Amino acid sequence: MRKRKTTVSTKRRQTIQKQAVLDAVRQATLSHPTAADIFAQVRPLLPTLSFGTVYRVLHGLVEEGEIAEIRQAGGPAHYDADTREHDHIICSRCGAVGDVHLRPLFSLEECGQPQTDFEVLGYRLEFHGLCPSCRLVSQAPVLPFPVREVFPC
Ligand SMILES: [Zn+2]
Ligand SMILES: [Zn+2]
Repeated sequence: MRKRKTTVSTKRRQTIQKQAVLDAVRQATLSHPTAADIFAQVRPLLPTLSFGTVYRVLHGLVEEGEIAEIRQAGGPAHYDADTREHDHIICSRCGAVGDVHLRPLFSLEECGQPQTDFEVLGYRLEFHGLCPSCRLVSQAPVLPFPVREVFPC
């Protein structure tokens, strides 16, 4: 009897944690928060919450397709409640992430196909630049980012 009660309350706690993390990601959709941002936002509401739990909950939400994960080389992953197809621009100084909605002028999958023996299943496009805050700062070092050669179709 006692064991059952514990199981129920654990499950309830997990549901509350999951909802709090999901709400925090949804409220910050445009800023594409990191796990640390979410932890800082949710911790005051749930003081017993650990960073590891936030990370696990975020990972679970990505696996369930509730949120999207934006990975960047050399920086922390960012999370996005907007799971519709769109691309991102990453600030080369501070790592801030913004949305880019491209009008489908042509199929990038078709562009990639003739240049390799690969079957193209999809693509990931990433813009790099300076966010509005960093545009005001001229001395901060610019983070290195991978420069890719763009082949004409
Ligand atoms: Zn920036
Ligand atoms: Zn986005």
